[in-house]
Amino acid sequence: NDEGHDAKNLRVKLVLLGDSGVGKSCIVLRFVRGQFDSASKVTVGASFLSQTIALHDSTTVRFEIWDTAGQERYAALAPLYYRGAAVAVIVYDITRPESFCKAQYWVKYSKMIEAISFIELQKHGSPDILMALVGNKADLQEKREVPAQDALDYAEKNGMFFMETSAKTSDNINELFEVLMTFSSFI
Ligand code: GDP
Ligand code: MG
Repeated sequence: NDEGHDAKNLRVKLVLLGDSGVGKSCIVLRFVRGQFDSASKVTVGASFLSQTIALHDSTTVRFEIWDTAGQERYAALAPLYYRGAAVAVIVYDITRPESFCKAQYWVKYSKMIEAISFIELQKHGSPDILMALVGNKADLQEKREVPAQDALDYAEKNGMFFMETSAKTSDNINELFEVLMTFSSFI
């Protein structure tokens, strides 16, 4: 996976997946621009943003973030977003159990895509996708309906990172990307 970058300047393609309304676009905007807009627009199809962060040893990682729309009608486009992705961040809303179910669907889907790209890309090295499960809207503790322990158990069973975030308060947003960066830098 060393196309176009060396050990000092890594480029990591990241796809954000999850049900509509869980806060994917807000997570990206918080990370890239440090902003939270409670009236953010619904993503149509997919949007693209990038952000470069530095590791302590002068290595930089440029995240190329594909923020997808959760709507079913765009599901057919998902394989396009996945092409060359090193990281999949699968988001749910801790106040909406159905969004956690949907996240599990995306995990299975990601594993399927990973298996397909393994067959497709065998000649080009490891297609392993680093997966993270993210429970967003952690600021809404009083409305919580998905216990953190359930999500953690699920994530561990599936070999994923797990973190709860709040795009609103920015809790764990930078930490999420720092963890992903640390692991991506070994890809
Ligand atoms: P997407 O469809 O997954 O991209 O979701 P959006 O980013 O568009 O966010 C959907 C709604 O959830 C918006 O009204 C946001 O203001 C709200 N939202 C997003 N993140 C948070 C969060 O961390 N806390 C709270 N309380 N609301 C959030
Ligand atoms: Mg969106």
